[in-house]
Amino acid sequence: MNIQLAIQHGTNILINKRINTAKLDAEILMAKALKKDRKYIILNNKEDLDGKDLKYFNKLIKERASYKPIAQIINKKFFWNNEFFVNENTLIPRPDTEAIVEQVLKLTKHKNMMNILDIGVGSGCILLSILKERKNFYGTGIDISKNALDICKINAKRLKVYGRAKLYKSDIDKFVEANYDLIISNPPYIKSCELKYLESDVVKFEPKLALDGGVDGLSEIRKVIKKSSELIKKNGKFVLEIGFNQKNKVVKLLKEKGFYINCTLKDLALNDRCIVSTKI
Ligand code: GLN
Repeated sequence: MNIQLAIQHGTNILINKRINTAKLDAEILMAKALKKDRKYIILNNKEDLDGKDLKYFNKLIKERASYKPIAQIINKKFFWNNEFFVNENTLIPRPDTEAIVEQVLKLTKHKNMMNILDIGVGSGCILLSILKERKNFYGTGIDISKNALDICKINAKRLKVYGRAKLYKSDIDKFVEANYDLIISNPPYIKSCELKYLESDVVKFEPKLALDGGVDGLSEIRKVIKKSSELIKKNGKFVLEIGFNQKNKVVKLLKEKGFYINCTLKDLALNDRCIVSTKI
């Protein structure tokens, strides 16, 4: 069987599972099976496959058909300007979260040195992307998951910013090191009872710990805001990702803890996704 036919066959299996990126996914998985890039696959689609490669490709298609996310099958996800190593231990970096990076880069255009804290650092996509762009900035990432921190460490080394990143396993309640110029966070913010309605890729394969925001979706956000108000310098900026319907409630929580609201940002689907505030 040649590459093209195998991809067609794999695509059909994924279409039957209602995966709407079926063809793209099959091409990416073929590239992985053959240890080539996607361009090679497309340009050489008449090439014959040997039995071993075809078997491996079919195994990868089966994994995808069980809704395992592509990023977890190929162990990588592109975010902002870099490729991140990912597995089942962290949330897969979302394009929507790039809004935080973009905003932080705007806010820090003329800053020489800054100490940044990322609460719930996960794969490190936000903090490490910023450290990569701002060579004089230092970052601290905390996460309750040791497995997530291991991933973050791999990424920090790959991006060559490990020397400027401190990583701690800690619950936000317990963390005491203070005095940050800037705090960023993408905490879990989905209501526990709504987790089951997320896409199969997400519910079945991404860590609940990174998604579950408790009964009203705000339990972690509340903790993050309270603690940030203690750890941040006066006039320090706080950039927080939120759920699409949480803006009003979170603005209120921020104001109660002494933050001035600078602006809210929308994601690619035009939902409110991020709040920028300043500690006063
Ligand atoms: N935006 C993510 C999702 O919809 C949730 C991220 C989070 O809870 N921080 O899957």
